[in-house]
Amino acid sequence: MNKNLIIPIFIPHMGCPHTCVFCNQKKIAGCYEKPTANFIKQKVFSCLQTFKNVKEAYIEVAFYGGSFTGIEEEIQDELLEVASNLKKANIIHGIRISTRPDYINKRVIERLKKFGVDTIELGVQSLHRDVLNRSQRGHSEHDVIEAVKQLKKINKKVGIQLMPGLPGDTREKVLATTEKVISLKPDFIRIYPTVVIKETLLAEWLAKGNFVPWTLEKAIEITSEMVILFSQTGIPVIRLGLQAAENLQPGRDLVAGPYHPAFGELVKSRIYRKQIEYLLTNTDTNVVDNHLVVFCYYKDISQVKGQKQANLKYFREKFKLVLEVLPKKDLNSGSIAWLTGTGNSLNVFTRREFLEKYRIK
Ligand code: SF4
Repeated sequence: MNKNLIIPIFIPHMGCPHTCVFCNQKKIAGCYEKPTANFIKQKVFSCLQTFKNVKEAYIEVAFYGGSFTGIEEEIQDELLEVASNLKKANIIHGIRISTRPDYINKRVIERLKKFGVDTIELGVQSLHRDVLNRSQRGHSEHDVIEAVKQLKKINKKVGIQLMPGLPGDTREKVLATTEKVISLKPDFIRIYPTVVIKETLLAEWLAKGNFVPWTLEKAIEITSEMVILFSQTGIPVIRLGLQAAENLQPGRDLVAGPYHPAFGELVKSRIYRKQIEYLLTNTDTNVVDNHLVVFCYYKDISQVKGQKQANLKYFREKFKLVLEVLPKKDLNSGSIAWLTGTGNSLNVFTRREFLEKYRIK
């Protein structure tokens, strides 16, 4: 199966007892009705009608939006029963839930096994004690380690969600969190730099001058370092930044912070910048009259140049170099090539080589 198709079912928070400073529970809880068994079946069948190439896809029902294992047990059973029956009938292939690290215990593990849940996404956000405390997360680093350990023991796929830029967070704390997360060997990562949403404690703190969100530039730079570290150990980062949504337009629910509808593209572009900079400072490139021609995978041209040509400007200012970026169909995404001294052949610097050599200082 070459494609993963997710059917999202949003679970209201149903009176979450926590007060994470970035969360607007009232707003989120008000958005969704509690799904019923019938609703789930209808949603699955209507999604299957709209998906293309369903036969070749791995189809997953995903319970998102709340701490699934924290809701009433009868409701968990009811929802998982429907999903499990759809899975047994081979209408879907997997079940995914998202929850908090401290909501994984023996009873939960038994339920996940019983209903055949395949993937568990944990809202970890940070593994720094001070950041977790100041963000009022209500769980510890130890909870995260234990949760991952228990889930791995029963062979579940574990995803970890991180939120760089929470109160008290710094580049050093984020990189330390990243190293600790790597040591837990999760199956995938999602990174959502912290933004300030209306009617949250963060919004109050911002108004009083007690919290300063990261700039977009800082979020791009640090997130790109996180992605490099995860990629160096083969852990896929499957999401960068919040999904573009109407309520995240300025003047709606977004108050401040490093939100950008194409945040992932900006991070990928920054990684290309670092790769070319590594090439310039560590390799014998063929720079003639402060002019360098590089080739890349044809679909990545705009990432290599950067948004509004930001990477070209960067190299012009820092290296007094005019960088020309040309497409080359037979190059893989992530590879950069340049002409040899004689101009007769191409040197290729692959993403894999870059990841092997590059060290974050
Ligand atoms: S983010 Fe925190 S406050 Fe919001 S629903 Fe999750 S656990 Fe509750």
